[in-house]
Amino acid sequence: MPKIPELEIPEPYHGIHAAVAQPDAVTVRWLKPQHRCPRSRVKEHTCECSARIYELCQAGGLFFVRRTDRTPKGQRVMETEWLPLARIRELWHNIITGRAV
Ligand SMILES: [Zn+2]
Repeated sequence: MPKIPELEIPEPYHGIHAAVAQPDAVTVRWLKPQHRCPRSRVKEHTCECSARIYELCQAGGLFFVRRTDRTPKGQRVMETEWLPLARIRELWHNIITGRAV
């Protein structure tokens, strides 16, 4: 992912960086945001220095991963299906390690 110049962050303040997708990465089913719960909380997120940000979100008793691509034309937001914690932990781990895209 290209870096966004206006979002240059001093080295100690970087967050998690999602790894480059591995050749055998599994494909995640990215869905349009459902907005079925008005409030969702971000539990973890990847670093702001990338044009693409992943967030691990909680809404009610379920969890999902939100992917935001920040482009010159604006933001494009997609979400995974909503899952219980055990399954989203695995999916989150696979996404940030490049095993799922
Ligand atoms: Zn960073």
